[in-house]
Amino acid sequence: MFADDTILLIYAAAALLTALTTSVVTAPYGRHGRPGWGPTVPNIFGWILMEAPAPLAFAAFSLPLWGADARTTIPAALFLVHYVDRAFLYPFRLRAPGRRMPLMIAASGAAFNIWNGWINATFLARGPSIGGLGRLHPQLGAVESTLGVMLFIGGFALNRDADRRLRDLRSDGSTEYRVPHGGFYRFVSSPNYLGEILMWTGFALVARNAAAWLFVLFTAANLAPRARSHHRWYQGRFPDYPKDRKALIPWLW
Ligand code: NDP
Repeated sequence: MFADDTILLIYAAAALLTALTTSVVTAPYGRHGRPGWGPTVPNIFGWILMEAPAPLAFAAFSLPLWGADARTTIPAALFLVHYVDRAFLYPFRLRAPGRRMPLMIAASGAAFNIWNGWINATFLARGPSIGGLGRLHPQLGAVESTLGVMLFIGGFALNRDADRRLRDLRSDGSTEYRVPHGGFYRFVSSPNYLGEILMWTGFALVARNAAAWLFVLFTAANLAPRARSHHRWYQGRFPDYPKDRKALIPWLW
């Protein structure tokens, strides 16, 4: 047993700290990789190490909820579908031969994913309004849940489509960076991150608990500053980068 509100407050504090940190320091992997961050591991291994704890922790801690009712089983299935793909299939689709990432990034991502898998499975299994803070959560009904599933599917499709378009830029075997086009790249520089945030917002609408909403907050705290870094990097590297393309939110930012 744990103090539900304390756990949620720790999560909220971690999200705020992440927003502050990532606004100042861009995580050193991918195009923002740079020396001085300790030992590195091959990208594929790093992604598996980082993401595999999410479905494993979630599966382990969600055992009590399976089959209970659709309101818990559906969000649990959404969580697992995304993370099984992200942890065990996405790393093998990457087109970044020779690329490495700091072990520290993979390890900190793994630690977050254990925490996040545990807290989401636990709060989902225990119902929508646990803890004093949980009671603040509005009671959402079938309409909101259906919208949530649709938003999750839309965000998932956007995320995968954007990642595929990036892979296609290297279909000739190159390891170069090029200007992505088509799909939501017409509007923003990081539609994969936009899709990720929309997807977890949909999940939170279905899961109906405060832990799921804090996951949305944490994801945005992590990815919004990184989207801004990507956007500035593109603008600096490509003089003809589309002027009307925004960083993350179409037409706005
Ligand atoms: P990026 O968009 O930075 O890179 C994705 C892949 O595409 C990398 O292999 C990268 O290669 C390649 N790539 C990127 N831009 C170009 C380009 N212009 N030309 C050619 N190749 C390119 O995404 P991330 O690596 O940060 O994230 C990958 C996935 O993981 C995304 O779907 C993201 O949403 C998700 N994610 C989710 C997080 C969360 O908090 N839930 C956190 C981080 C990621 P290279 O490695 O050489 O840069």
